[in-house]
Amino acid sequence: RLTAVAEYLKLRDKYQRHPKCTRPCLNASLAIARRMGKGVYFARQIRQNEEYLAKHGRLCLSKESAQHGQYTLLDNESVVHGVRRYLAAQNLGSITPHLLCHHVNKVIIPALDLTTKKATISERTAINWLKKLGYTCKDVKKGVYFDGHERPDVIEARKKFLTELTKYEQLMCKYDDVTMELIPPILGPGEKEHVLLPQDECIVSTNDGPRKQWLQGNQQPLKKKGNGRPIHISDWISERTGRLALSEEQIAAQAKLPESQRLRVTDARRIIYPGKNHDGWWDLKQLMDQTEDAVDIFEHLHPDKVGVWLFDCSSAHEGLAADALNVNNMNVNPGGKQKHLRSTVIPLNNPAPKPGQRDTRGMVQDMVYPQDHPTPELRGQPKGMKSVLQERVSVWDELSERRGGKVVGKCKECTKSQTKKDAERRVAAAEAMGQEDTLEEADLAQAEEPDAPERDAWCCMHRVLSLQADFANEKPMLQHYLEGRGHVCMFLPKFHCELNAIEMLWGYAKYRKCYRLASDSKFLTAKCLVPQCLDLCDTLTIRRFFRKTWQYIDTYSKGLDARQTAFAIKKYKSHHRVGLTSEIVALMQASD
Ligand SMILES: [Zn+2]
Repeated sequence: RLTAVAEYLKLRDKYQRHPKCTRPCLNASLAIARRMGKGVYFARQIRQNEEYLAKHGRLCLSKESAQHGQYTLLDNESVVHGVRRYLAAQNLGSITPHLLCHHVNKVIIPALDLTTKKATISERTAINWLKKLGYTCKDVKKGVYFDGHERPDVIEARKKFLTELTKYEQLMCKYDDVTMELIPPILGPGEKEHVLLPQDECIVSTNDGPRKQWLQGNQQPLKKKGNGRPIHISDWISERTGRLALSEEQIAAQAKLPESQRLRVTDARRIIYPGKNHDGWWDLKQLMDQTEDAVDIFEHLHPDKVGVWLFDCSSAHEGLAADALNVNNMNVNPGGKQKHLRSTVIPLNNPAPKPGQRDTRGMVQDMVYPQDHPTPELRGQPKGMKSVLQERVSVWDELSERRGGKVVGKCKECTKSQTKKDAERRVAAAEAMGQEDTLEEADLAQAEEPDAPERDAWCCMHRVLSLQADFANEKPMLQHYLEGRGHVCMFLPKFHCELNAIEMLWGYAKYRKCYRLASDSKFLTAKCLVPQCLDLCDTLTIRRFFRKTWQYIDTYSKGLDARQTAFAIKKYKSHHRVGLTSEIVALMQASD
C-alpha cells in the first residue's frame, strides 16, 4: 500500500505540472491502480491512504480501523495504560466486558479529552480488548480443561459406539434436510423401527454468581460456592416427537381410561429441587425410576417400536445393581460387612481342570452360603472372594500356581487403580449435585487419566475375580432393565457430549437467556421459569439438534480429524450427512 501511495505521489506531481491534465489526483490514482491490476475502488483507497499518511504520519492499521475509529483507541498509550491499571485493580474473577466497557466510556475516555468522532466503545469491543490484553473467558464449572477426544482408549470406545449405532440407524426414520419431514425406514421382515432417545441432566443454580470469569494468562477461576437452591432437570428428547411426553389430546384420552390402565406420568421430564431439608441429590435410583416411566410413555406413543436409549458415559449412569457381581462389594473372607450378590454360572471359558480335578465350569454358583450349611456361623453369610474363587477349582489352581502358593486379596497395583475409580465416583457424585466447584483438582485430574495399560491378569484375588467372564460382563442396571423390556441401551464414549443431541436443548435455553433470567432471580421465580424455557423448544428445533449430531456421527465415521470436522460441520450446516472425505479436503484447499 505504501508503494502504491509513493507511486501515486510521483505521478500526481507529474500530472499537476502538466497544463492539460484537469484532475491530477483522480487520474494519477486510477493510473496506478490499473498498473497494479486493480480498479476504481483501489484508486480511491490510494487517495484515502495518502490523506491519512499526510495527517498521521503512518498508514491506518486496516480496513476495519479505517472504518471504525474506536479500534484505534487501544493504540492510544494513555488508553492502554488506563485499561491495564483498571484491570489490575479488580478482584480475581470480577472482570466483565460490561464493566470494562462502562469504565472506558465513563472514566478513561472523558479524562483524555479525545476529539475522535466516536469516542466510546461497545461491549463487543471490550471483549476484543480483553482478548488482546491476554485475558480469556474461562468456565468456572471446570477448573481444569480436559480434552481426551484423540486418546487411544477413547478412539477405541468411539469406534465401537459408532459401529453399533450405525447398525440401528438403518432402522430409524430419516428426516428431509430442508423440510425436516419424516422419511420412514425400509424394514425387512420381523424388523422394528428404532427411535433414538438421548438422555441428559442439567442443573440451573439460582443466585449463583457468574458461571464464567475473565482471567489473565494462567490465572485459575475463583470457585465460589453458590448459596442458591439448584434446580435439577433430567429428560430425554426424541427425533420423532421432540419431547418424550403425551400431547394434550393424548392426556385427555388418558383421563377417560379407568385408573388402573392410565400411565403413571405423561411426561418423561423430571425436575427436582435438591438441598438441605429438601429433595435428595439426583442418583441412579431416581434415574432408574424415571426410566421406568419414560419407557411406559415411549411404548404408549410407539406401541411397536424399539427405543435406543442413550446415556452419557459416567460411573453414575453405568452403576450396577446392588446384587450385581461386583468385586468391590466383596471381602476376602466370608461374612462381615459385604453385600449379598446374585447367583451365577461359573464361566465356560475358564481354564480346563488339572488331571484328576473336578470340572466346575458351567456349574451354578451361589454367592451366599445356604441356610443348612454344616458350619452354623456360615449359614446365610456371603462367601467372600477366596471361597468363590476356590469353588472355581481350575481358576484357583492356576492362581496359586502362578503366585507360588501366596495369594493376596488385593495387590498394590490394583489398589492404585482403585484410587482412580474412587476419584471418578467422587467426580460423578459432585456433578450430580452441580457442585463441580467443590472438587479437588487432584480428583479431577485422576478421574480423567487413561486406564492403566495391560498388566498381569493374575496378580491377586480381586483382579482375577473381576476378570472372570460373569463379573466382567455384568451389565449396568439401566442396560439390564432396558434390555429386559426389549429396548436398546447405549452409553456415549467419554468426552463426546457433541454426540448427545439433548445437550443442545440446555444450550438453547441458555442462548435464549432463559437460564440467565432464571438464575438471576429468586428460587420460586426460577422454579416456574425453567420448565417454561424448555417448552419454548419445538419439535422442529429438536430435529435440527439431531441433524447436528448425525453430522458429527457421520464425520467421526469417516475418520476426519478435528480441523476437518469443524470445517465439514460448517459447510454442510443444513444436511444430515457431510460430503465425502475427498470432497471436504478439496473444498478446504480451495478455501485456504
Ligand atoms: Zn492385583
